[in-house]
Amino acid sequence: MRKIISLFVLALFFSCNSSAQKNETKEKETFAVTKTDKEWKEQLTEKQYYVLREAGTERPFSSALNKNYEKGVYHCAACDTPLFKSEHKFDSGTGWPSFDREIEGNVAYGTDNKLGYSRDEEHCATCGGHLGHIFNDGPKETTGKRHCINGVALKFVPSEE
Ligand SMILES: [Zn+2]
Repeated sequence: MRKIISLFVLALFFSCNSSAQKNETKEKETFAVTKTDKEWKEQLTEKQYYVLREAGTERPFSSALNKNYEKGVYHCAACDTPLFKSEHKFDSGTGWPSFDREIEGNVAYGTDNKLGYSRDEEHCATCGGHLGHIFNDGPKETTGKRHCINGVALKFVPSEE
């Protein structure tokens, strides 16, 4: 009987704990670069603000970076953090710049916060700016992942070679 009670207590503890943790991550996801909406609006173009700060999606085939195959690094358009390398870019045919992997640690994945991220959402780990979504239909010969990224959220920095 005692065992049953302690199991019950344990279960209670875990259920409380998981909801507590959820709240914690909600508050915990803080970013090294944090600005007010007003500051972002001043810094970003209207389209950039819509995608990066309001988790919007640009029209497919609207970004010049979609067909960009030059060597270089794609940085966050809001805070300049390097996010993707040109060697990991591929033509997915979707109309959005696509990569099979990110620069590890610089991209974070969906949590519930005020931008309404879903779980397949990805955003800049430095400023929280929304980038796009991750799917499992990428190139099988590499990672199998497709990072479907809004070109307007990126700034291309060609490598000097
Ligand atoms: Zn950023």
